[in-house]
Amino acid sequence: MKLSLSRATTLVLVLSATLATSGCRTQSVRPPTPALSSSASEAPKALPPWVEEPFGAERLHKTELWLGEQDPQKRSFWLIEAELELAMGRLQEVQQEVRRGGASSQSALQASRVRNARTALEKIAHEDSADESQQKRAQDSLASADTLLAQLGQSRKTTGVPVIARAQWGAAPARAALMIKNSGGWKKITVHHSAEADPTPLDGSAASSAAALRQIQRSHLKGKTPPWGDIGYHYLIDPEGRVFQGRDLAWQGAHAKGDNNIQNIGICLLGNFDEEKPTQAALDSLRKLLDDLRRTYRIPRSEVHKHADFRSTDCPGKFLKPWVEAYRKGSGSDSAAHAN
Ligand SMILES: [Zn+2]
Repeated sequence: MKLSLSRATTLVLVLSATLATSGCRTQSVRPPTPALSSSASEAPKALPPWVEEPFGAERLHKTELWLGEQDPQKRSFWLIEAELELAMGRLQEVQQEVRRGGASSQSALQASRVRNARTALEKIAHEDSADESQQKRAQDSLASADTLLAQLGQSRKTTGVPVIARAQWGAAPARAALMIKNSGGWKKITVHHSAEADPTPLDGSAASSAAALRQIQRSHLKGKTPPWGDIGYHYLIDPEGRVFQGRDLAWQGAHAKGDNNIQNIGICLLGNFDEEKPTQAALDSLRKLLDDLRRTYRIPRSEVHKHADFRSTDCPGKFLKPWVEAYRKGSGSDSAAHAN
């Protein structure tokens, strides 16, 4: 951080004042927004690094990285503050997109992001470890989240399939420090099948699909060396055609090996399509999701791939590969109903 001489002098004065009144031995100045905890014993000795960052994308990024290193069970003032800032920041990103006129084909995707933020806010609004100011800010933001969801739902241009948010399938928290930020937008999409060695049985219920997703996430978080920061795919689709949010689109996926993951959205259909055919419901949702993502990120059909296009693998299975190839070649217009 570069400071002009007068700015530096002011900082020293503020610091002295802080030291004189609170006796706090920190080297930094607290930001103006968060209210200080009422109990002095809760005040941490060192401030987290993101606190000194100006408000904006870089601060959110640092906050997220820092959160990934914390134990989410230890509900300290700064942990809650970080969760609160992150949720409010994500909400603002969607608000800005909507204001710029983005609430059209991508509203289902945006709604899913709002619901992810909303889950964090809901928790803080009602938790005892949060102080009064934090609870109030969470409450206020919950109201904005609901307004935003209503706006997105009312958008008449909505064509998107609804996307089930992470909290609804019981996703474990992602570890930001183990992931790579996506930058420069999205340029391609890759389709996979899950083909687990010992898959969670699916009985058609959303609960069984959620359990299958948690199993896949666990294997990605714990069964990899080095461990991954989250489930590798950005979206997953079950045989009933339900679309689930996987890894947040803020991050590069882990599904196509190494540099192939750069600006590459990963979609995984649950099942082994070397052994069975994908259901019509799953294919209908896949088509809608592909259409949505391509419109949103301006991805040409020619950049919709099979996993096997990048490396030697059977993925996404002999019964799904021809479908992806047909989609890439452009069977039917984007808006036309799917007729086999
Ligand atoms: Zn694959």
